[in-house]
Amino acid sequence: MKFNTKTIHGGQKDVDPAYGSVMPPIYQTSTFSQTTPGGHKGFEYSRSGNPTRAALEKSLASIENGKHGVAFASGLAAIDAVLKLFKPGDEIISTNDLYGGSYRLFTQIFEDFGLKFHFVGMQDADKIAEHINENTKLIWVETPTNPMMNVIDIEAVSQVAKKNDLLLAVDNTFATPYLQQPLDLGADIVMHSATKYIGGHSDLVMGSLVVKDDELADRLYFIQNASGAICGPQDSFLALRGIKTLHIRVQRHCENGKAVAHFLKNHPKVDHVYWPGFEDHPNHDIAKKQMKDYGGMVSFTTTEDSKEGAVKVVEKLKVFTLAESLGGVESLAGHPASMTHASIPKEQREKIGIKDSLIRLSVGIEDEEDLLADLEQALD
Ligand SMILES: *Cc1c(COP(=O)(O)O)cnc(C)c1O
Repeated sequence: MKFNTKTIHGGQKDVDPAYGSVMPPIYQTSTFSQTTPGGHKGFEYSRSGNPTRAALEKSLASIENGKHGVAFASGLAAIDAVLKLFKPGDEIISTNDLYGGSYRLFTQIFEDFGLKFHFVGMQDADKIAEHINENTKLIWVETPTNPMMNVIDIEAVSQVAKKNDLLLAVDNTFATPYLQQPLDLGADIVMHSATKYIGGHSDLVMGSLVVKDDELADRLYFIQNASGAICGPQDSFLALRGIKTLHIRVQRHCENGKAVAHFLKNHPKVDHVYWPGFEDHPNHDIAKKQMKDYGGMVSFTTTEDSKEGAVKVVEKLKVFTLAESLGGVESLAGHPASMTHASIPKEQREKIGIKDSLIRLSVGIEDEEDLLADLEQALD
């Protein structure tokens, strides 16, 4: 099956033996009856497994070209489960420019449990080797990065991981499985905040992991059940519904993202535009090689180089909604320094380029003319 067919049918066939409903039913139940102790039909308690969630997990595995999907209550719960594969003393090398909540989870929760993190600029994969020692267990990659839109060569990093017997996990939230399939490029784990493009309608919070390896999947299912951060059947249903239009939504996100990026680049009040589709983007060649298109995320700074200037612009937008999050059908604007990335200390933020004047746009699937007109009036 090819991608567009998988979004609609992957894991979603024959899920209703009772009546043959075309959509997987929402099995809103905590438990399942047994004829004799242990005599059940594959499900016993909804933390351990639920048919609606199982359909979603199959769909996620299918669209990521993986074998096993594991769904969680949020993207951070999914990352939390990955980190629980490790023990005190283990070391993890992570992208230095990453989602603020991931950074907070790494440094404010798991460092206290004895994991050690190294934050490294990975645009040059050779930089990673300098931080590898006998305790290193995992490389964590986010690409394109949030919000600076740097692109990391997954295949090159996977060669470093394989050579040193390390796991490689990729946060694929920004790219979506439509644009980029990390498992095919050598990653062991692909992670999503399904809250974003997978759900696609800003109506749920969810996370997911997909792997190929059976043993790794067993450990992750064990953690999912033992730690318990599962997603519910209603949200699983909504995510399945979202996945059915993932390919056509992302196509339009890419078209509008491209139009917005070019509009901003030519605007006199805009200083710099961060979008991997530009030929002069420092990682354009990698993006071109590993992504099908360049996505709907665009960041930029204004010529009025101040927090006040950026805040004025985001407050004036009318079609773009000022809000955290991304990846929904509606366009959103955010001010990373005071919103999504406020949990990263200012000094660390500025080192990776998140200036106070930076604005991040999640370009939705509205009419291009309306989006450009909105940006024009806000910048004026
Ligand atoms: C939102 C986000 C997360 C965290 O996901 P939640 O669903 O909010 O817990 C992780 N990584 C990236 C890139 C994100 O955008």
